[in-house]
Amino acid sequence: MRLSKAYVPTLKEVPAEAEVVSHRLLLRGGFVRQLTRGIYTYLPLGLKTLNKVADIVRQEMNRAGAQEILMPMVQPGDLWAETGRWEFYGKELLRFKDRADRDYCLGPTHEEVVTDLVRGEVRSYRQLPLNLYQIQTKFRDEIRPRFGLMRGREFVMKDAYSFDRDEAGADASYRAMYDAYCAIFRRLGLEFRPVEADTGSIGGNFSHEFMVLADTGEDTIATCQACEYAANLEKAEVVVPVDKCDCGHDCPAFSEIPTPAKHTVDELCDFLGIEADTLIKTLLFDVDGAPVAAMVRGDRELNEIKLKNHLHATDVKLASPEQVVAWTGAPVGFAGPVGLKAANIKIIADRELDFECGWFTGANKADTHLKNVDLRRDVKLDAYADLRNITEADRCPRCGGEVKLRKGIEVGHVFKLGLKYSQAMNASFLDENGKEQIMVMGCYGIGVSRIVASAIEQNHDADGIKFPPSIAPYEVALLSLAGKDPEVAEAADKLYAELTGMGVEVLYDDRDERPGSKFKDADLMGMPMQLVLGGKGLKNGIIEAKDRRTGEKRELKLADFAGEFASWRRTVRQGWGLGVE
Ligand code: ATP
Ligand code: MG
Repeated sequence: MRLSKAYVPTLKEVPAEAEVVSHRLLLRGGFVRQLTRGIYTYLPLGLKTLNKVADIVRQEMNRAGAQEILMPMVQPGDLWAETGRWEFYGKELLRFKDRADRDYCLGPTHEEVVTDLVRGEVRSYRQLPLNLYQIQTKFRDEIRPRFGLMRGREFVMKDAYSFDRDEAGADASYRAMYDAYCAIFRRLGLEFRPVEADTGSIGGNFSHEFMVLADTGEDTIATCQACEYAANLEKAEVVVPVDKCDCGHDCPAFSEIPTPAKHTVDELCDFLGIEADTLIKTLLFDVDGAPVAAMVRGDRELNEIKLKNHLHATDVKLASPEQVVAWTGAPVGFAGPVGLKAANIKIIADRELDFECGWFTGANKADTHLKNVDLRRDVKLDAYADLRNITEADRCPRCGGEVKLRKGIEVGHVFKLGLKYSQAMNASFLDENGKEQIMVMGCYGIGVSRIVASAIEQNHDADGIKFPPSIAPYEVALLSLAGKDPEVAEAADKLYAELTGMGVEVLYDDRDERPGSKFKDADLMGMPMQLVLGGKGLKNGIIEAKDRRTGEKRELKLADFAGEFASWRRTVRQGWGLGVE
């Protein structure tokens, strides 16, 4: 493509609304434009990259035996009523009515539609397993659409759904998708980790999220340095030490200490001159309408999802100040496990709290704390449970190796659904014995448009984007520094034709611009290989080549251009962990 003719409206100024680097660079580089909150138009360069991502996803899905279909974006409300999601899916579901006053929604996901399709057609075990997928625009009326393509309201997703005869079949389908996802993210040239993810209330089944590692990611994942283990924070199990303290639980009886207006852990530690790991933090929650007190050590973070899973709850929220006062009999900031007022309150302690005694805790009394609390002796606990976030000081729950916390962006999700939708919608088949059975399902999503943003979050510098070769809009940026020199212009035209003839996609900067602004734009737009032809080089029979990822430069001989280019291309792709396709 000749840049002089391309619609690539680059921007000099960084748009104020863009908070993250991928959003800024996608706007500045002329890849996308926002129409309205969370809704974007893809310009030619943006669309090329989006399509390349989609193509890789499509090829690997097909290779894994999934079949592509295209389902409607508009879905009837009746179908969603069958699974109960018409009611339970939050405001992200954009609901509307047609002229006959019937309910509809814009598809945020397609479990209902695909299950409806299959239950009407698949009758026999011989037609299973079946895996159907689509690549399509989804709509979710996100509460906070932000970060450009990272969290849009309208976005492109690949969603696949598998149907199997039994659990073993569903496990095999799941494994095939897991492997396909690994192949996809490798081919995209991204550093990624599959992590064990929370399955929420569905329990018993399993789920992995695929994370692109990037410091700007919203998710924290725990990874083991020694083995393959990686898990989301809410899933990463904390292993508590086996050796209990040898105090014999005979510390002195607890007693009150005055702590005027010391509400927070920090204030309290400063005031008493103690360390945060000697006190217990008590947090109060409204769990499905019932009061719960959950405790972790003062220097730890409680994970609400761990609490929710432990209680098999559906809704966990922090208690309101009014509830705190009612349940503890004290103002906010003085809650503790001893002498809570609410009679029916459940008290749950993080497992770690079982290994020490002599704790400082709130006294459920204004401006007062307790010292020398022993949970075993002084409190009627409902349970010890794994409630806190893992830290880098903890050990890997699998192998005992060292744990590192990394930031990541969720780009894919594989989920074994089991019977959840097939049962609700009666998707059944006749087995070998003519007996009716319910299909076992799985669902598998990939955020195609989010991948574009994640690739940039992971690969950029101060000058712009560094696209992996497999998804760059063009593999090569050819810069002609011809100025007024027709010989250079002619030689550049010839090279452009030669490269194109070799099947290489080239963005040819043939504009009448200063070299400086051509260099800047090439770095901004991020094609992985830059070729720069100037008057001096042409005279010496060479063209300058720059690897956008490393910044490394080399000179290619024009006399043996095809050969030198091919070997340089191999080097660049290898640097990205990619072979030559
Ligand atoms: P998140 O937790 O980020 O909201 P999710 O768990 O709701 O995502 P899924 O329902 O698992 O998302 O969707 C499959 C994939 O679609 C996600 O892994 C993600 O890559 C992508 N995705 C989800 N929501 C958005 C969005 N608002 N904008 C862009 N991509 C999205
Ligand atoms: Mg998800």
